[in-house]
Amino acid sequence: MTGFDPDQINLAQAHNFIDGRRVKGRGAAIAVRRPSDGRVQADLDSVDADQLVEAADNAQTAYKRSGWAQTDPRGRMQVLRRWADLIEADAARLAPLEALGSTRTINEVNAWDLGYTAETIRFFAEWADKVGGEVAATTPDKLGLTIAEPYGVVAAIAPWNLPLVMAGWKIAPAIAAGNSVVLKPSEMTPFSIVRLAELAIEAGLPAGVFNIVQGDGRSVGDPLVRRPEVAKVTFTGSTATGAAIMAACAQTGPKPVTLELGGKSPQIVFADAGIDKAAAIVARAITLNAGQVCVAGSRLLVQDKVADQVIDRILAAFAAHRAGPTWRTDTTLGPIISEGQLDRMDGIVKRAIAQGAELLAGGGRATAPQEGSYFAPTLIANVDQRSEVVQGEIFGPVLTVQTFADEEEAYALANDSAYGLAAGVHTGDVARALRATRTLEAGTIWVNRYGRSNDFILPTGGYKQSGIGKDLGREAYLANLKTKTALIEF
Ligand code: NAD
Repeated sequence: MTGFDPDQINLAQAHNFIDGRRVKGRGAAIAVRRPSDGRVQADLDSVDADQLVEAADNAQTAYKRSGWAQTDPRGRMQVLRRWADLIEADAARLAPLEALGSTRTINEVNAWDLGYTAETIRFFAEWADKVGGEVAATTPDKLGLTIAEPYGVVAAIAPWNLPLVMAGWKIAPAIAAGNSVVLKPSEMTPFSIVRLAELAIEAGLPAGVFNIVQGDGRSVGDPLVRRPEVAKVTFTGSTATGAAIMAACAQTGPKPVTLELGGKSPQIVFADAGIDKAAAIVARAITLNAGQVCVAGSRLLVQDKVADQVIDRILAAFAAHRAGPTWRTDTTLGPIISEGQLDRMDGIVKRAIAQGAELLAGGGRATAPQEGSYFAPTLIANVDQRSEVVQGEIFGPVLTVQTFADEEEAYALANDSAYGLAAGVHTGDVARALRATRTLEAGTIWVNRYGRSNDFILPTGGYKQSGIGKDLGREAYLANLKTKTALIEF
């Protein structure tokens, strides 16, 4: 069943966006493959060094002179709302573009990604007139003020796993707060975001407030972070890259930096949980986007007395998946982003088995209606807590299962990780749910559910090696403002 014809999408255009229009990059051409079948979909034109300077300079000029930062906040709100409306209205063009170039299926993009991205923009639009500063408690002969001001130019660097959604988290709060943005998308999923920038201009965003520079991390991402015009950096991606970006920010600023990084999130199922519901949630939390989600629930910790029941249900849910290309509407398990990434996860699974782990499902390529990088939902038992398969981020549909006898053991296993992005708890006992919420070391705790909702007010971000700072919520908006204080003597 075909949702759209992948060969009907024309990507032979300029892929950078500077000063309100598409610009052909003069840097290296990067062959971008479509994840579903590995075919080259287009050559990406990276910016060269001069164009990178031009983009940063243009963003700074727009910050100072376009009037965006000075616009009446409700005026900014109106533009952002129009932008969100245009994104939804453009679904027929934007959704296939996103699905073709990424691992997201057309069903998922239509049902969630586009609406969620639009709603992220609306959420941050609403903050535009909510934060201005405060009057400080001083002696009555003075007036002490705190004044919230945008940083100026924000550099945003995004990953490939949910291209529009992840970019939206970065650009919406920055632009709503009055900053200008230079975004570098992942070089693996670079195309759909340019359409989003065109829609921003149509909505009334001044040219130069939102620029896109394309290219890889070494030639474009790193020099962008280091540009003197860049006053703040916001990054989503792997922990290793986040650390390199933080070092670059320290060397060239210091500049404030928000880091949303990797994860290895536990899902804990207690015997008093509703087993059918818990197992369905656990299975979905590791197969959504073929496990290529930062908060993928990749470690199942299940109370020993219900382990067999939970495992049986997960195996049934895994078996029901249909791997296939993102353009088919009957696909429930999309591709892995690249062959390299598939080989990496395959290696981790094979090494675990060689070390004595037991393969309960999957463990290699999934059968799909065509050639491509598809990995079967994989369940592995008898794993060592210190092993690579339990401790390392795999970023694929690979779930380990460990049993525990009591709460204390569950929390000890859950917290024994360098990461702390999210954790899921399934229990019918309210007191236990609250204890778990207090005890688990993660930036997001989900109880009797797993995954995002439209509660944009809840910030998201990691503990430990999963990050610094927050996306979403009031915190993400405030992170795009700096504070000036003024003390006025009468
Ligand atoms: P990555 O770190 O390889 O790349 C992310 C981005 O950084 C890309 O645009 C890349 O070109 C750029 N980059 C690479 N090196 C750079 C450098 N030295 N300087 C500047 N930019 C550089 O990550 P990825 O493979 O694209 O994404 C997957 C990772 O992202 C996983 O670890 C996942 O957990 C994480 N992630 C985290 C969240 C979160 O909210 N915490 C969300 C999504 C993904």
